Amino acid sequence: MSIVYIVSAPSGSGKSTLVNELFKMVQGLDFSVSYTTRAPRGSEQNGKEYFFVSEAQFKAMIEADEFLEYARVFGNDGDYYGTAKHFLRESEQRGRDLLLDIDVQGAAQIKRKIPEAVSIFILPPDREKLEWRLRNRGLDSEQVIRRRLDTARREIENYSKYDYILVNNLLEQSADQLRDIVVAERLKRGRAELSEEQQRLVQSAETCQLQKARERVRPILASFDPQLAKGT
Ligand code: ADP
Ligand code: 5GP
Repeated sequence: MSIVYIVSAPSGSGKSTLVNELFKMVQGLDFSVSYTTRAPRGSEQNGKEYFFVSEAQFKAMIEADEFLEYARVFGNDGDYYGTAKHFLRESEQRGRDLLLDIDVQGAAQIKRKIPEAVSIFILPPDREKLEWRLRNRGLDSEQVIRRRLDTARREIENYSKYDYILVNNLLEQSADQLRDIVVAERLKRGRAELSEEQQRLVQSAETCQLQKARERVRPILASFDPQLAKGT
């Protein structure tokens, strides 16, 4: 059985950067290329970052029950995004694992269908740094940045539905932690006794588990909205 990894994050947290680093370090992992109705941005290519389709094509795929999950992502003008079932089938046939880069709505749908999927929520160090990263990336207009920050606040509320919380402070360290989570989950499902190095790696991954991350998350939530931190 393939392991399904779900990665979600507010836009600008560094998810794409970390996922790219992960694929350089880990073998046997496929990336699920989503279908979307949004237009390509910058150098994006059809079939690489996304399959870009019309709304009519997307709705025909919904009718034909071709999606494992799909959602309208409102921080993005309500465009449709969906994960096609065939990606998981193909990864399973090849004996590989599959990584989904999807929003909180999609993550909830996958967790209902595949409870053993491993979900990872990436957080920025705080709101100010998120705003700086969004500006510094230089991809979005002021209006889009404002909307992404508003959406971030709402997405962050869902952090406690995830198995792992990764605070993307120092890039190299965060990339190593993401790799450790992916590898640790494979090791935990294997039957072999773990070497000392493997045990160290599993422990490193465990520091990101939800119950161990709550203290670290509280000031981040408070930087977005003091009310958010109260429930933690
Ligand atoms: P996302 O995919 O979550 O929208 P990106 O991967 O595009 O975010 O990252 C947003 C910006 O932040 C990019 O300019 C990226 O180079 C930068 N970035 C990512 N991770 C870090 C980090 N740990 N420290 C500083 N800058 C980062
Ligand atoms: P962007 O348009 O910036 O690439 O992505 C916007 C948001 O859509 C991100 O949060 C991304 O994770 C999410 N997304 C990308 N593909 C899918 C998908 O197939 N399903 C869902 N539910 N969300 C997706």
